Amino acid sequence: MQRAHNFFAGPAILPVPVLEETRDAVMDFAGLGVSIMEISHRDKVYEKVVTEAQADALALMGLSADEYSVIFLGGGATTQFALVPLNFLQKKADYVNTGEWASKAIKEAKTLGEITEVASSKESKFTFIPKNIKYSGDADYVHITTNNTIYGTQWKTDPDVGSVPLVADMSSDILGIKRDFKKYSLMYAGAQKNIGPAGVVMVVIKKAWMEAKGKQNIPSIFKYKTHVDAGSLANTPPALPLFVLGRTLKWLIGKGGIEAIHTQNEKKAKLLYDVIDAYPNFYKGTVTVKEDRSWMNVTFVLPTPELEEKFIAEAKPKKMLGLKGHRSVGGMRASIYNACPVESVEFLAKYMEEFYKVNKG
Ligand SMILES: *Cc1c(COP(=O)(O)O)cnc(C)c1O
Repeated sequence: MQRAHNFFAGPAILPVPVLEETRDAVMDFAGLGVSIMEISHRDKVYEKVVTEAQADALALMGLSADEYSVIFLGGGATTQFALVPLNFLQKKADYVNTGEWASKAIKEAKTLGEITEVASSKESKFTFIPKNIKYSGDADYVHITTNNTIYGTQWKTDPDVGSVPLVADMSSDILGIKRDFKKYSLMYAGAQKNIGPAGVVMVVIKKAWMEAKGKQNIPSIFKYKTHVDAGSLANTPPALPLFVLGRTLKWLIGKGGIEAIHTQNEKKAKLLYDVIDAYPNFYKGTVTVKEDRSWMNVTFVLPTPELEEKFIAEAKPKKMLGLKGHRSVGGMRASIYNACPVESVEFLAKYMEEFYKVNKG
């Protein structure tokens, strides 16, 4: 089988060894004569899948199990937009609006309390990450979106929000860039961008915050504590996606962890941004502040809609898929997550060079 150069934004590329392990486990899991989909989540063998994924996630992030818990839930990152305020919004919270996902998180939170949009780049079509933000100081938490999948911006440094708990939607860059994870009280990520398939969300939560501030008077299935206390097995987890997520974490550890992938992702992104910067009258990066350019989702437009269509049409027979930008931004978007090989990015960069030469007019 020839693998395509996969630039889909999500669900997105997975490492080949992980796909192979999954294929095998779908037929026969751990030599038991049953599929990974046919075994009780209460069986010790499956429980190990969960506990190892928890331990591997913490190890990759450099966090201790004494301080942080990892749980795996269904419902997508979108469900977390509601669960975070449901669990922690007592009175008011600060949100930074850096894109569509952030806007959706704000909308959900507003149904449960008072939300202050402490900064927003909406006026300029989310083309940068706001700086020098003045936080309220007495909010229940501050919420940010570390990588804006649609607009192609990324927080390269973790904000200082004082003693207020920091919460982040890390769906599209978790474990793809070095972060000071200890700064965060809660991090969540839909797996289907950078750490697995759709159907499972990873939530990393600071236990002390959860114990001290987690709201009690909410349905127990929506309470983070319920899932933490049950070792993420309060009810049947998304068993197969969670298995794939676990394998993806092991693959990442094998590659040298965040340290190694950080370097590789920076290099991959540079390959594409260098072409964009070399031909600024042809390829126009949609992000105006260079330091805010995402290493995960590289967004750019071409001079005309016709050229954009041609760019995509001619990429297809070369086995490059998923390059069309999100409908709200238009243009192109190359998503180059952890599992996207350097070779695919080099191939795309070369294609961009050639396409420029033929079509510059
Ligand atoms: C894709 C994405 C979401 C939505 O995830 P679902 O799993 O579809 O709910 C939320 N936030 C960010 C940053 C995303 O990239």
